[in-house]
Amino acid sequence: MRGGTPPSWLGDDESHYPSKLPLSIWYHDLYTMGIDPSARFPRDRYQLLKERIKDAQLPSPIEFREPRPASVDDLLRAHGSDYVDRFLGGRLDDREINRIGLKPWSDSFGRRTLLIMGGSISALEHVCQNGGISGNMAGGTHHSHADFGSGYCVFNDIAVCAKIALEREFIDRVAVLDLDVHQGDGTAAILRGNPGAITISVHCEANFPFRKVASDFDLPLPTGVGDSEYLDKVQEGLDIVSGFSPDVLLFQAGVDALASDALGKLEVTRSGMRIRNQMVLSHVVDNGLPCVIFMGGGYSDPIEHTVDAFLDLFTDAAVANERMHRMIGSEGQHREHEVV
Ligand SMILES: [Zn+2]
Repeated sequence: MRGGTPPSWLGDDESHYPSKLPLSIWYHDLYTMGIDPSARFPRDRYQLLKERIKDAQLPSPIEFREPRPASVDDLLRAHGSDYVDRFLGGRLDDREINRIGLKPWSDSFGRRTLLIMGGSISALEHVCQNGGISGNMAGGTHHSHADFGSGYCVFNDIAVCAKIALEREFIDRVAVLDLDVHQGDGTAAILRGNPGAITISVHCEANFPFRKVASDFDLPLPTGVGDSEYLDKVQEGLDIVSGFSPDVLLFQAGVDALASDALGKLEVTRSGMRIRNQMVLSHVVDNGLPCVIFMGGGYSDPIEHTVDAFLDLFTDAAVANERMHRMIGSEGQHREHEVV
């Protein structure tokens, strides 16, 4: 959506209410430029999306914020020290590098990795302190395990954020709702057995990773299903979230279930994807549930379809965030933050 008409899905009858609480999303130019231009990964999606958001007349505002690199201590909450040390020291072997992909690695790939991790951590801290919704315009790196990377994922920002929430932000219960078309194997493995966290994955069964690691709740779909069956599974996932009553929701919002996606194997339409997002956002608003959005996968050909779907996502998240802050009356509690 590029026009300025406010969505009606949240029953917004106060569309002219002065907005003071933009949706904060973290972004750095290295999210795009830190990937070598010859890599097969469609790196331009980040830059294209930022331009689309800046150009759009949004019904609720979005504020871009620049991340700081994650610290080693943050990474160690979910990863082994040997793996962290060897990645940061440029000492992964060819097999490990091939498993991650995104090749060839540019000189700034390591810094890009730490900035994406830092963006997710800052988004988490923001909602823990202020409530509402925030997002990272990258991340959702759910295929990364404690001791190895895989499938375009070096470190697992979702698992690191879950651990930080539980161990540093005094959060008791974290739910991970992973709606990327690929199963969240790394997140499931890292958070397995953690009583403060549940992992839920809605994905295409016949897709990567082919050796899955069981989530607390896996909701697989067969190849080729469309909106109706997909959205039924999303509702199942939200019902599980409700039963757990989390204090924070970590939403992996990959749009690679789109019919246009080159890696997806599902047939979800753009409008179906938007309904999916609105189902999650309505749940968040109705329950006053702080939520971090991790961008996740999207590999449409042409990539414009992926960018459209992510524009829908952040547009609707901004509306939901504004609505949520109004409903919880947080204007007076909202902390001043730095402007970037
Ligand atoms: Zn994916």
